[in-house]
Amino acid sequence: MLPAAMAETIFTKIISGEIPCHKVYEDDLVFAFLDIGPLSAGHTLVIPKEPAVTLDELSAESAAAVGRVLPRLSRALVKATGCNQYNLLQNNGTRAHQVVQHVHFHLIPKPDEDSGLGVGWPAGKLDPKQGADLAARIAAALEA
Ligand code: AMP
Repeated sequence: MLPAAMAETIFTKIISGEIPCHKVYEDDLVFAFLDIGPLSAGHTLVIPKEPAVTLDELSAESAAAVGRVLPRLSRALVKATGCNQYNLLQNNGTRAHQVVQHVHFHLIPKPDEDSGLGVGWPAGKLDPKQGADLAARIAAALEA
């Protein structure tokens, strides 16, 4: 039974086996499986078993476990698909395109221009004064 703030999602049901998936990896803290709506062949979702909703809510232990396995899974994906270019995508919040409310990392092969992840990148220009202020505020907000 999950705490009320950690509602059941389709991903908790995939981890428990209640909903089937094409599993590619599992350890004590991490689970990975093929995305049901792939942007390209091999599109894989890597998720912590901990049912945090967004990355900022994830424990350091689960974050470390996911981080440890991502390069290994990337190497396996490159080997299995023959595609050595790929994106790692992680959405937090509905405005940022998060649909499933359980932290997940997309590994998406980019075999050609037309498949894989398309990215809009409306770059601005960092104002030096605002940059200094923002960097100082973010650094001050960091928890130990
Ligand atoms: P996001 O928009 O970052 O929340 O992505 C959620 C992803 O979960 C989408 O790419 C979906 O295709 C994928 N997804 C949803 N349900 C399933 C499922 N049952 N099995 C595999 N992937 C799923």
